[in-house]
Amino acid sequence: MKINPDKCVACGNCTYVCPMGAIYIDPALKRATVNRDECVECYACFNGLSQEHLNPTMVRTMRKIFQFMRLRFDPEPDVCPTAAFEPEELVWPRVVRRAFSDPRVPHESTGIEGRGTEEVKTNDITGRVKVGEVGFTIEFGRPGVGVWMREIQQMCARLALAGVSFEKKNPLTSLMSDEASGQLRKDILGEKVMSAIVEIKVPVERTEEIVRLVWEVEKELDTVIALGVGTRCDADGEDRVVAPILERLGYKLERAKTNTGLGRITNRPSPLPQAEMTTR
Ligand code: SF4
Ligand code: SF4
Repeated sequence: MKINPDKCVACGNCTYVCPMGAIYIDPALKRATVNRDECVECYACFNGLSQEHLNPTMVRTMRKIFQFMRLRFDPEPDVCPTAAFEPEELVWPRVVRRAFSDPRVPHESTGIEGRGTEEVKTNDITGRVKVGEVGFTIEFGRPGVGVWMREIQQMCARLALAGVSFEKKNPLTSLMSDEASGQLRKDILGEKVMSAIVEIKVPVERTEEIVRLVWEVEKELDTVIALGVGTRCDADGEDRVVAPILERLGYKLERAKTNTGLGRITNRPSPLPQAEMTTR
């Protein structure tokens, strides 16, 4: 994202809408400026402010006259009065920032907007996590914090060493140059995004080991991590396997979401031979 210094009148409205705090009024230039390292190309500034087309010279003159009279002339807080924002044509690898940070842009690898994954929220249809397995979503970053791809790689490398399996239908997996070692493509390691989700799954008996591993690596990273756990309920709609492990680790569990299986199952196992079916 760029701000045209010829158009900007330094009203400061945009500094409040940037979720990454990447816009500041440069005291030397006396114009709003985007910190390119911190900007994650989320387009909140461009889309969140109405773009008016006032003449910049006229606005600057009026602001000076009002200032001289100890008054203020400020535009409405939700507008850029001079349409000073000029989105750049993003090229690789910078385009990765937008793919993970602008919720209206679908990921090329999955066709899903935002972080590019439905996680296990649709497990009744996708069947990603099967009986005897536990699925983890490791969510990096937040507005105001963000995450560098190199930090995500640090976690992925440790998970790969532990022999986890990465979810194929996840955009981060598709950006790996070597899934076996959890290495992301080298050319994206210097990109920062608002947030991103790594998805893995392991046999249920490895739940505690993986939680502890995530805790350990998290301490080495300069971002925030939210850990999600997905599992299959038993016939009573309860989880008596994973929940006790998590409670022992100190988590207070609240039921977040239960899928009732009304969707179309796309991973139904092939039918059993007739003889076997009748004995069950
Ligand atoms: S809202 Fe527009 S005119 Fe005001 S500081 Fe930002 S870019 Fe400049
Ligand atoms: S694109 Fe997003 S991160 Fe970049 S300056 Fe605009 S609001 Fe801030």
